[in-house]
Amino acid sequence: MSSTCQRRATCRLCSSADLEKVLALGHTPLANAFVRRESLPEAQPTYPLDVYLCRDCAHAQLLDVVDPAVLYKDYVYVSGTSPVFVRHFEEYARYIVNRFALPANGLVVEIGSNDGTLLRCFKEHGLRVLGIDPAEQITRGAIASGIDGIVGFFTPELAHEIRRDRGPADVIAANNVMAHIDDLSQVMDGVRRLLGPDGIFVFEVSYLKDVVENTLFDTIYHEHLDYHTVQPLVGFFRRCGLELIDVMHVDSHGGSLRGVVQLAGGPHRVEPSVAAFIEGERRMQLDQPAAFHRLAREIERIRTELLGQLRRLKQEGKRIAGFGAPAKTTTLMYHLELEPDVIDFIVDDSPLKQGLYTPGMHIPVVPTSELYVRRPDYVVILAWNFAPTIVQKHAAFREAGGHFIIPLPKVEIV
Ligand SMILES: [Zn+2]
Repeated sequence: MSSTCQRRATCRLCSSADLEKVLALGHTPLANAFVRRESLPEAQPTYPLDVYLCRDCAHAQLLDVVDPAVLYKDYVYVSGTSPVFVRHFEEYARYIVNRFALPANGLVVEIGSNDGTLLRCFKEHGLRVLGIDPAEQITRGAIASGIDGIVGFFTPELAHEIRRDRGPADVIAANNVMAHIDDLSQVMDGVRRLLGPDGIFVFEVSYLKDVVENTLFDTIYHEHLDYHTVQPLVGFFRRCGLELIDVMHVDSHGGSLRGVVQLAGGPHRVEPSVAAFIEGERRMQLDQPAAFHRLAREIERIRTELLGQLRRLKQEGKRIAGFGAPAKTTTLMYHLELEPDVIDFIVDDSPLKQGLYTPGMHIPVVPTSELYVRRPDYVVILAWNFAPTIVQKHAAFREAGGHFIIPLPKVEIV
């Protein structure tokens, strides 16, 4: 084990040491570690990617934690660039404002505020906003565009300072950040200090139920330390002096969980949704190793089917490319064994990825226009959650005789 990766011995939510490895995805490079041409000869580090289930609280998690300084070295994700996310956040802000009757000039704080897309929506409702994010360049950009922010990590000390300077928060939001933080208890300590007596903490996390149900195994990579379900979170928040009062399902990232939390003994009642979600999770045995063993068999089945088709096409002399190189592509390609002898090159719309090579396998990433220059016979849609949009946008490729292959949730050729 390298010094940049530490193995935890205890559950991130309940501190139990009774943990069972339930899904072994082997060693892979970091999902976002795309390589420049000049670095191709250098050996690329890989890290264990194994999911463990806590036998006490049933929380699913990675225990091998890569140093965030290494993990987020070249972080480039900016949420506001995608119109889908902007619409999602507009709906999100409207929901919170309407349901919780926030006071005029109330304070909304967001942990992991990125480019300020969500806070901008709250600001339009007349609320004061403050973003906290360690990504300096993105946060400075948000501040310049009128979204107040602090560059740094959300700590209990920072929570105390914010309360002293701006008063208690009416809303604290954290979207797609809770799965990235190793010391979650410390963050919740800060939340408890900053929330006003009627305040709420709202979070969105990718939901393990969707991962298992729809074989979204490519969302498992080193940045995502936790694979949340409702049951373990109830006890976790209670131990932090907080109370989970409502949960709902939202569509983002292939299926996410939105939770609403108040201070223990706060004014809101616990909605029936909490018990209903836990019941659904038990029915799917998400608190048992069996659910993960089923997922492993499903990955195996898809790999056999997809590789069989691709190898047959290769033997017929067909040329195969990939479409899209988001972070999750690395897990997908490693576990479906989409290696350079099968995939010649990958096209991606993002200029940030073009000219680079994929982590570990070193398949070149080129502009999408190359589809029409190199004219591969088949294109595997690696960013498969955008498959309908990609197929529609590139109708010309199909009209010229090309085919798309969608690998998940079931192998499909169009
Ligand atoms: Zn636990």
